[in-house]
Amino acid sequence: MRRSLITGATGQDGWYLTELLLGRGDHVVGTSRRPDGTAGRELCQAAKSWTQPNSKFELALLEPTDTQQVDRLVQEFQPLEIYNLASQSHVGQSFAAPLDTLQATVGSTLALLEAARRLPAKLGVRMYQASSSEMFGAAATYPQTEKMQFHPRSPYACAKVCAFHLCVLYRETYGVFVSNGILFNHESPRRPVTYVTRKVTQAAARIAGGLEDELRLGTLNAGRDWGFAKDYVDAMWRMLQYDRPDDFVIATNEWRRIDELLEAAFSRVNLCWQDYVRIDPALSRPAEVTRLQGNYAKAEQLLGWRPTTTFAELVNMMVDADVRNVHDVSPVRGP
Ligand code: GDP
Repeated sequence: MRRSLITGATGQDGWYLTELLLGRGDHVVGTSRRPDGTAGRELCQAAKSWTQPNSKFELALLEPTDTQQVDRLVQEFQPLEIYNLASQSHVGQSFAAPLDTLQATVGSTLALLEAARRLPAKLGVRMYQASSSEMFGAAATYPQTEKMQFHPRSPYACAKVCAFHLCVLYRETYGVFVSNGILFNHESPRRPVTYVTRKVTQAAARIAGGLEDELRLGTLNAGRDWGFAKDYVDAMWRMLQYDRPDDFVIATNEWRRIDELLEAAFSRVNLCWQDYVRIDPALSRPAEVTRLQGNYAKAEQLLGWRPTTTFAELVNMMVDADVRNVHDVSPVRGP
């Protein structure tokens, strides 16, 4: 049985990746800082239906910045694949907690790199690092490729740039097989409402259901390259099946503004977004990234990967899920 380790398994991507790896017959150990919390219980419950006769799932408690804990887990489990998804993953919050963000993102990456380096070479461990399009930040040209310079615009992005370079360092210096996935924004019905896509789709559903009457946003003056998270975890897996470690942009090649997101979501429930959306300066960020748009040509050429879900399909999927949940879920508000 192939052994795979996922840190930060209870997040959106960990959820889809666990499903993919169990479907492939892996023994998956997912880690979380709160395995007994709601997200952990939900993941364990769902994993039962994904588990094949030859696969297995365990959720383990792990503080991902604790080098001793990480090392112990890696030496005992001896995974063939490690997916490092653990981090403080919210850009807006990183301005309020810059040091925590740096420590969580850089510390967890370094702990895993050190542990991977200490595994017996004959095991051939491969590691995936969740790098981010936010590293491009204020990039001057579009679409962004692996060759472009980083220009981070948040503590989150600075932390990801540092973690990215640590991976390159360990690859070049110690021969660790570690690939950086430079993933552009990827969303799903499992995205927390702290992200603008889910905030918008949940608000559209709740306004249509008569439960709310306005949506407050920090700005409309930005846009992203938004893809479907399930497509993107497939890219993570492909990176580790490729014959050498490398860095890959994963994106859709398309850029949408926030007003296009609003139009798509509100029209799905036959509403006009202009009637409900208010700008709240308290929700804006000290520094903004206005345009992220990726070029996935390298991933297509070397990994055979391409996105399968259009922006319209993604938004419809998320709104429809929120409409179904509208009377069950109490809204979680967030920046
Ligand atoms: P990010 O790319 O990881 O920062 O993803 P987000 O979904 O958090 O933000 C995407 C863009 O939406 C950023 O430019 C935000 O500033 C913008 N945005 C505007 N209003 C909001 C809001 O109320 N919440 C969030 N999360 N983002 C907002």
